[in-house]
Amino acid sequence: MSYDKVTVPEEGEAISLADEETGELDVPSNPVIPIIHGDGIGSDVGPAAQQVLDAAAEATGRSIAWMRVYAGSAARDMYGENLPEDTVSAIREHRVAIKGPLTTPVGAGFRSLNVALRKRLDLYANVRATYYLDGVPSPVTNPEAMDMVTFRENTEDVYAGIEWESGTDEVEQVREFVEAEMGVDDIIHDGPVGIGIKPITEFGSKRLIREAIDYALANDRDSVTLVHKGNIMKFTEGAFRDWGYELADEEYGEDVLSEDALWEEHDGDQPDGTVVVKDRIADNMLQQVLTRTEDYDVIATMNLNGDYFSDAAGAQIGGLGIAPGINRGHGRALAEPVHGSAPKYAGQDKVNPTAMILSGREMLEYLGWSDAADLVRDAVEETISSGKVTYDLHRQIEGGEKLATSEFADAIVENIDELA
Ligand code: NAP
Repeated sequence: MSYDKVTVPEEGEAISLADEETGELDVPSNPVIPIIHGDGIGSDVGPAAQQVLDAAAEATGRSIAWMRVYAGSAARDMYGENLPEDTVSAIREHRVAIKGPLTTPVGAGFRSLNVALRKRLDLYANVRATYYLDGVPSPVTNPEAMDMVTFRENTEDVYAGIEWESGTDEVEQVREFVEAEMGVDDIIHDGPVGIGIKPITEFGSKRLIREAIDYALANDRDSVTLVHKGNIMKFTEGAFRDWGYELADEEYGEDVLSEDALWEEHDGDQPDGTVVVKDRIADNMLQQVLTRTEDYDVIATMNLNGDYFSDAAGAQIGGLGIAPGINRGHGRALAEPVHGSAPKYAGQDKVNPTAMILSGREMLEYLGWSDAADLVRDAVEETISSGKVTYDLHRQIEGGEKLATSEFADAIVENIDELA
């Protein structure tokens, strides 16, 4: 395939699909990996992550052939548009990619490029691993109790962008339809209104929950918790929960138990190799994760709950500078940090690249390079626990050495070389 303005690196090989049904990949030892540095601090954290991932790949006998692709302001300069076809095609073709943050204007302006990328590539699960690294300052007493992976549905919910602006003909048509045709009386106040729609489908819910259960089984996790607000939004969030239990029942046999079955059939003693599926109401879950952190393991939830929940969980183990993510679909993945483009720090060689580096670690895991992924985690932990940190962690710890983004990346690479 040829691209308009980007070149495929000559030294790399393409990743391909090994199994159509499971989405399993065939990964060469020198894959071509597209990378978007992104807006704002993307130009700081992007190169830092590349440097660390290169070192981990090299230390484990592999290499990464990076293919720079563009979105956001860099794409506007090069192509005159925010999300060029080159970029989407490169990620689609090469299957596994990584990106830095992209700016989204609030209110007016273009819609989120992050959401557009996830939708166009059908990356339906946003997966956020939340685990404690020794030495990272945390606002809670036992941050080491946190070791969770959140699967957030990425394509549906009020996030899908089905909404109409107040004052438009369209929003008045929608109001007319729900009031006159659907009998919704006395709920929407008179005067200007914005209306959004919350689609939650059986297909979208089940494929997300399946991804979470498969992950839990493959990684020896104890439980998958379905987080919902089904007590209030019965036909959307309540349906998500019901479809989750239905899926567990239909597809997993004795490998997956409900909480009731765990107590009724096994007296609370979970058989080895099984996963318990349970559910919690979202507001309760936000406090449970603080008070009973160790009870939670893999989380499966819808788009909006997942956004709030994973940021709150991330805060418990050190906040935005640390929190990694990866968007996954059937045999495709796009890793990205949870944080945004923090424009006020752009180009200052100041911010923490850990979230982008650990997103790269999730990408290495997705490639099946667990040894390289472990090396990245251990080297990041070793660096931070020795007191070498960027400004954000430095202001929260006593002593320590405040490093620039690039110096911090150098320190991690030194530790990779020592640990390898
Ligand atoms: P943000 O860019 O994440 O920054 C908020 C604050 O978080 C920063 O001021 C900084 O706090 C801290 N922070 C973020 N990243 C950090 C890092 N790597 N190292 C250290 N501290 C870090 O959130 P925002 O200001 O709400 O959003 C800015 C833009 O990013 C918006 O256009 C938004 O839409 C976009 N965004 C994009 C993504 C994405 O690409 N996936 C995600 C979220 C937001 P202190 O100033 O206190 O140090």
